Amino acid sequence: MPDKPLFEKMALIGVGLIGSSIAHGARKNGLVGHISATARSEETRRIVAEQNIADTVFETGPEAVAGADLIVICTPVGVFGRVAADIGPHIAPGAIVTDVGSVKKVVVRDVKPHLADGVHLVPGHPVAGTENSGPESGFAELFEDRWCILTPEADTDPDATAKLNAFWKALGSRVEEMTPQHHDLVLAITSHVPHLIAYNIVGTAADLETVTESEVIKFSAGGFRDFTRIAASDPTMWRDVFLNNKDAVLEMLGRFNEDLSALQRAIRWSDGDALFDLFSRTRAIRRSIIDAGQETEAPDFGRPHGQDDDPEN
Ligand code: NAP
Repeated sequence: MPDKPLFEKMALIGVGLIGSSIAHGARKNGLVGHISATARSEETRRIVAEQNIADTVFETGPEAVAGADLIVICTPVGVFGRVAADIGPHIAPGAIVTDVGSVKKVVVRDVKPHLADGVHLVPGHPVAGTENSGPESGFAELFEDRWCILTPEADTDPDATAKLNAFWKALGSRVEEMTPQHHDLVLAITSHVPHLIAYNIVGTAADLETVTESEVIKFSAGGFRDFTRIAASDPTMWRDVFLNNKDAVLEMLGRFNEDLSALQRAIRWSDGDALFDLFSRTRAIRRSIIDAGQETEAPDFGRPHGQDDDPEN
């Protein structure tokens, strides 16, 4: 824990899974002196106040950001522009504004125009999450051993970037800096397209007339179940991701479709070697993800299989 907090006052705009996890982690590690927060609905603000997720909870963004030296925008990406227009004029000079959005090019486009000179914008993306949403789903350890990507512009104050870098490291993350363009391309293939495939395959199964609903559920452990976890991710968040990373997602989908056609051909022509080669290469990729500490080695993704298993887990 640092001798003194890195920031005197952190303001959270939006307190869902990511916002509440930042609040818990910052508290646990003594990173901020005070946490103020705002969220859109009265219900969320009530939970944040009742569960003491923040020290002060406000109805409006301008009240929440008053006097803050760190502002973290934790809403869906689609409202970043509106949020920034609302809070921009009330942000103290010298403050750092960051966000946690899953796409990064749009942050400079939508947020920066609303910030005064002397306010430092350092966009960020913690590559960590679960399929759950809302203020009650957060936990302090969410970012531990996960990557956080910062995408400062070339002329961003290096001290501001370094301070935010230290903040994420203190939350347990490994931090890397890159351009927003590069971020959006990399995440398109590692996160966005996989989510689209999961949404699509679960949708296709649900539409199949020859497979009854009970069979889809009964035999889901054959692979389908793991797609359903991803396909349960928040619809608002993911709609906004696809609407705001069109170019990179369409580019990766083009490549995906080409490779899928090659697989289709291999199956049609009984080209077992082609299938075996690909499946061996992909198995090695999973091995390297486990070796990098980004996935569990436990069989069946660590699901329990004892007598006391809770079928809901
Ligand atoms: P979430 O649990 O649904 O929370 C979103 C929060 O934003 C809620 O507090 C919501 O308020 C608030 N909000 C929505 N519109 C608002 C507005 N116009 N003004 C003020 N507050 C508003 O979402 P999340 O999973 O934390 O995701 C938040 C951000 O993190 C997204 O940009 C997402 O791309 C990014 N992210 C998510 C993950 C993940 O796995 N979930 C991972 C990395 C990054 P109400 O509760 O009152 O509606």
